[in-house]
Amino acid sequence: MADCIFCKIANGEIPTNLIYEDENVVAFNDLNPQAPVHFLVIPKKHYASLNDIDSKEAFGYIFSAIPKITAKLEIKEYRTVVNTGASAGQTVFHIHVHVMAGRDFGWPAG
Ligand code: 5GP
Ligand code: ZN
Repeated sequence: MADCIFCKIANGEIPTNLIYEDENVVAFNDLNPQAPVHFLVIPKKHYASLNDIDSKEAFGYIFSAIPKITAKLEIKEYRTVVNTGASAGQTVFHIHVHVMAGRDFGWPAG
């Protein structure tokens, strides 16, 4: 989608150091990390938010990439966050899963 920063990262228009890539998803470190490890997993296909995901396959390929990446990074415990909508903290409207590790996380989330 034009003018979507994460589409541009996914298609290479914005050069970004990818920590994982497969046919359907890419992962890269967050620009403004909130933990010692903080990366984002995004589908290559543009979906504005979780509300727009239209197939089990899309859920599957986004989430199934996560344990592959954490295994590679030798991380066993981590927080995953999907902000959906502005009031939930979503600022980039191309769905992304935050994966954070390397510190303790409080609950409930702020
Ligand atoms: P949200 O607030 O939508 O859940 O998360 C968006 C995340 O994307 C933020 O944590 C922000 O730091 C990150 N982000 C925004 N623009 C860029 C960018 O151009 N490159 C990278 N690597 N991260 C970005
Ligand atoms: Zn996009």
